[in-house]
Amino acid sequence: MNQLHARYPFLESARAAVQAADVDLAAVVSRDGAVVERALERVERALDEGDVGEPRRRTRMELLSYPVARVLVSLVDEHVLTRKYARAEAATAHERIERDRTDTTELKSTGAESITLGALLAEFDLTDDIRETPEGYRVDVGAYLHLAADEWGDEWRLVNRDLQTGEVPLSEGELLVLVRQAVRKRVADGLPLSVPDAIGDELEAEMAQVRETLADLELMRDIDTVVPDLFPPCMRYLLDQVQKGEHLEHHSRFAIATFLTSIGMSTDDIVDMFQVNPGFGEEATRYQVNHIRGETSATQYSPPSCATMQSYGDCVNMDDLCERISHPMAYYEQKLDGADEDEVVDWREREGEAESQTS
Ligand code: SF4
Repeated sequence: MNQLHARYPFLESARAAVQAADVDLAAVVSRDGAVVERALERVERALDEGDVGEPRRRTRMELLSYPVARVLVSLVDEHVLTRKYARAEAATAHERIERDRTDTTELKSTGAESITLGALLAEFDLTDDIRETPEGYRVDVGAYLHLAADEWGDEWRLVNRDLQTGEVPLSEGELLVLVRQAVRKRVADGLPLSVPDAIGDELEAEMAQVRETLADLELMRDIDTVVPDLFPPCMRYLLDQVQKGEHLEHHSRFAIATFLTSIGMSTDDIVDMFQVNPGFGEEATRYQVNHIRGETSATQYSPPSCATMQSYGDCVNMDDLCERISHPMAYYEQKLDGADEDEVVDWREREGEAESQTS
C-alpha cells in the first residue's frame, strides 16, 4: 500500500495491494475507528459537498476507508446515494489528477506519488482509443459515446462535435472529463455489494447517520429549489412562452403551473415569474395556481408525466437526459443532483438580491 493507492483507491493496483495485505474488513470496521470515521466522511461529503474530502496522511487508513465507504453505501442501498457517491469519488480523483498535472511542487513536498495520463488511459483500457495530435487529442467515437453519454450540455452531443473518420477531437481538459466518467463507472461498478451481517451490524450507527443526511437532502431538494436553467426542456419552453406573452392552451398552462407549484413556488412567486410580460393576466393566474395547489379546490394537482406531455404536444426540445426519465420532475431532480453547487442558485434569491439593489 502506497501513497498513490491512497490518493487513487479505485486503481486495480490499489485493490491488489489491499488483497495482498490480507485485510479482514470485518476486523477493520470493528476495531479501527479512524478508518470507519474517514469512510463515513467520504460518504457524507459526497452528499453534502459533491467530493470525498482531503486524504489523511496515514496511507493504510486512507486506502482502507475507500472499501469501507463502498460497504456503507451498499448497506444504505439508495440509488441516489450510490450515484452521488460515485460522482464524488470521481470529482475528487479529477481534481487530484489535474493537480498532479499542474502542480509538482506540492507533490514533491508531501512525498505523494502522482499518476500520468498514459497510466490512467491504460487503467481504463483506453490506450488504443485515444491519439495525441498537435491540436490536442482524438478519441474513438465508440469510447466517446460510452463515456460522454452522461455528460450534460450541448457541447457533448455528438452532433455538435467535429467527427472525422470515426474520431472525435478533444482538448486535454475534455479528455480528463472523460477519464472522470471512467472513474465514476469504476467506483459504481458492483454496487451495491453483498455485505456480511457481521460487518453490517458494526456499521449500524454510520448507516443511520447517512440515512438521516439523505432524508434531509431529499426533503430540501423536493420541496424548495427553483433553478430555471435546470428545468426540463418542455418546462423551459412553456415558461419562455408565458414570459413572452404567447397564448398557451389550457393543458400547457396547467403543465407549467403544476410544475412550478411542485417545486415549491408560492402563488406570489409564480405571479412574479410570469409578470415580466405586460399582457399577462394576474388575476387569472392567481386563480388557476390556487386551484392547482388545492386552495380553492378539493384536489392538489401534480405535473403531467412525459407520456401525457407528449400526447398533448407539450414535450418539446428533448435532450439526452429525456431519454432516460419518464417524468419532468425526475428530469429536474436528476439535474439538481448532478449540478455543481454554484449552478444551484435559487431564482427567488436572485430576484431578492436584484430587488434590494434597485431599492
Ligand atoms: S421527455 Fe419529459 S422532461 Fe423531456 S421534454 Fe419531454 S416531457 Fe419534458
